[in-house]
Amino acid sequence: MGVELSAQPGVRVPTENTPPDQGFFLDLQSEVNDKGFLVTSTEELFQWARTGSLWWMTFGLACCAVEMIHVNMPRYDMERFGAAPRASPRQSDVMIVAGTLCNKMAPALRKVYDQMSEPKYVISMGSCANGGGYYHYSYSVVRGCDRIVPVDIYVPGCPPTAEALLYGVMQLQRKIRREGTIER
Ligand code: SF4
Repeated sequence: MGVELSAQPGVRVPTENTPPDQGFFLDLQSEVNDKGFLVTSTEELFQWARTGSLWWMTFGLACCAVEMIHVNMPRYDMERFGAAPRASPRQSDVMIVAGTLCNKMAPALRKVYDQMSEPKYVISMGSCANGGGYYHYSYSVVRGCDRIVPVDIYVPGCPPTAEALLYGVMQLQRKIRREGTIER
């Protein structure tokens, strides 16, 4: 599984096959095992809270939205990662743009984005949201939602699988941890 037991009982150390985030969690685990408590900084506490409660604003625009719904159903169960769907931008941390953004819908997308409170993030899901996709040359389609809102993570595919979107959320968590500031 990419970890092995160390000489110290109950402490596991990462190996070369360890997934990138697993080292972070193993460090936490060994500190709790060792001392029974954690010492951390306010910034790290904020990041932990921020990455563990990425409530997402649904912005399903076309076929990709089916996979976005799928990822929240019991088979993939995205709420395991603290990512829960919200129906209001005022309660949301991340907007998942899933589908074809047409010119008519672009002002609504921007308006919803502006209503989200900081810090806020955007995941662009699928070829259409990433760059127009099949409809790139259509007169009515925006060639990428990053022309309207700033995008943090692009998930490729037509449509991307539910697993791919889940991986995108994990990449966003990693990005937030890496940036490591309270300010966005
Ligand atoms: S990327 Fe493919 S699946 Fe997603 S909205 Fe566009 S055409 Fe539909």
